[in-house]
Amino acid sequence: MRYYSTRNPNHTATLREAVFRGLAPDGGLYLPEKFEPLPAAFYAEIERLPFGEINFRAARALCGNNVPEATLRKITDEAVNFPVPAKEIEPGIYSLELFHGPTLAFKDVGARFTARLLGHFAETENQKIKVVVATSGDTGGAVAAGFFGVPGIEVFILYPEGRVSPIQEKQLTTWGGNITAIEVKGAFDDCQALAKRMLNDSELTAKQRITSANSINIARLIPQSFYYFQLYAQLKSLGKPLTVCVPSGNFGNLTAGLMAKKLGLPVSKFLAATNANDVVPEFMRTGTYRPRPSVATVSNAMDVGAPSNFERMRNMFGNNPEDFVPFLGAAGVSDASTKAAMDEVYRRTGYLLDPHGAVGYEVLKAYLGKDSSSVGVVLETAHPAKFSEVTEAAVGKLPEMPERLRAFAEKEKKAVKIDNDYDAARAVVAKN
Ligand SMILES: *Cc1c(COP(=O)(O)O)cnc(C)c1O
Repeated sequence: MRYYSTRNPNHTATLREAVFRGLAPDGGLYLPEKFEPLPAAFYAEIERLPFGEINFRAARALCGNNVPEATLRKITDEAVNFPVPAKEIEPGIYSLELFHGPTLAFKDVGARFTARLLGHFAETENQKIKVVVATSGDTGGAVAAGFFGVPGIEVFILYPEGRVSPIQEKQLTTWGGNITAIEVKGAFDDCQALAKRMLNDSELTAKQRITSANSINIARLIPQSFYYFQLYAQLKSLGKPLTVCVPSGNFGNLTAGLMAKKLGLPVSKFLAATNANDVVPEFMRTGTYRPRPSVATVSNAMDVGAPSNFERMRNMFGNNPEDFVPFLGAAGVSDASTKAAMDEVYRRTGYLLDPHGAVGYEVLKAYLGKDSSSVGVVLETAHPAKFSEVTEAAVGKLPEMPERLRAFAEKEKKAVKIDNDYDAARAVVAKN
């Protein structure tokens, strides 16, 4: 299996090269050359297979023979060593809880897999590898937790000052060791632009090995396809078509779902749910793609105005809304509706959604209406305790703080503060 650039199908790379580079040399994003549907026998018995086996089969389909089988199995098992349960919140609506990992957001899956895969490839390198990552809130903590202490790897996390929740900030600034947090006076999009520019800075990358742990890196997307298979395994016995709603920012999570679909996963419809940063819903409505600066919302991990994985989606399916309509719906949700949904669902069902899951719930409910012929699933991308301020304001109750989150709150923040300035960011990364 090789991986091609979205900007030039003739440029291909091994998985090792794709993961080390992050971005293709032409600025494109890597995609697997082939999506070979998994055999019918796999789907026939999927509900009887152990989760680890399901994950491994998906991993092998997307990694080919780039990693020895035993190593891939080990990386996969270690990356997803926590459950991903589908819980019914009301008749016909399920929450796929992706927050049972160490930092309580779905990003743990991608970050843990990326760290282990990169660690495997780095074993035979004689040069330190620097991982640069921009975060809107959750990626930073998950990447730090995944990479902390991995030999041969230094991590630099760019995050927007004042735009992440207090507990998210603690999760990315309190590690020390091989993790450096860089606090940028700017928005997430500025952080993402700085990180991308570093990857494309040939003078910098000539001297140092620099890669990305953002969802531009194909290593992040591969494992994010696993839980879509796990979802199907859990709900298959209901015997109804599945509508899966994905709260989206950079659209890595949704792209991974679409990759699973290319491997034959029977999901009848995907829904892309955004907050006020609704460039993709707007594209689906108008046919025009208009990336723009992000606005701050209560679902801050989705405050992305130029979603990087949209380039992958278009490359896989086409340039017009009609190419997506058969399997994709999209809508944006205001902060007021997000908070109202958190409150309403909690009061009626006792289930506490986080702001991102609530955005997804709103879009899912509006799409399904009173139709009960299909089962609806919202991906619950984070635990509500990560957003305790917003949750308390919306629901009038502080979410219970899991122990592993409380531990972060007590540690001391350490971050390098910089202006939104490329040379300043570059200097921090180049120096260490
Ligand atoms: C990152 C994140 C999202 C958005 O995921 P993308 O893959 O960037 O679309 C949604 N919810 C939470 C809680 C997140 O951390």
